[in-house]
Amino acid sequence: MSRIALYPGSFDPPTAGHVDIIRSAMRIFDEVVVAIGVHPGKVPLFDAEERAELVRACVGPAEGPSVRVSFFSDLVVEEARRQGACALVRGLRDATDFDYEMQMAGMNGTLMPNLTTVFLPASPATRPITATLVRQIAKMGGDVSPFVPEHVAAALKRKLSRSS
Ligand code: ADP
Repeated sequence: MSRIALYPGSFDPPTAGHVDIIRSAMRIFDEVVVAIGVHPGKVPLFDAEERAELVRACVGPAEGPSVRVSFFSDLVVEEARRQGACALVRGLRDATDFDYEMQMAGMNGTLMPNLTTVFLPASPATRPITATLVRQIAKMGGDVSPFVPEHVAAALKRKLSRSS
């Protein structure tokens, strides 16, 4: 039986930190489903399909035949059930992530006891990166190339030159 992990998040946009976690998860699981949360009322910079394309381009076909993208707008545990996932992957950067993620893992564990949350540590190089700061830096014209894959930096440039 193939072991499927669900990696949920906003990915607005995917960063080098997300890619790092996806690669780590690929080493452990047979399949990794990157689940993009779509929340009515929350206006993202990139729409869901744009984020999916950006995620897909982060892992090449040769490298990532085992990576898929899905969308969900309900509970993470429901998406995990639909995808047949045995694990929920989350990245940990610092103690703030830890406190919040422990609460989520505890409550998700109650909602779906056979779904195990697996925390993967951020690598030292990508640990400070957050998608929120990437968006802010890009909006103010800063260079985000150290924080995101090349195609994401290009997409940010295109998006923000259109909206300004
Ligand atoms: P959220 O809206 O839940 O913050 P994100 O898309 O920002 O969604 O993040 C999804 C997951 O990726 C979370 O588990 C988060 O901790 C992890 N993550 C985000 N940035 C990094 C990073 N730089 N290094 C490791 N994990 C990260």
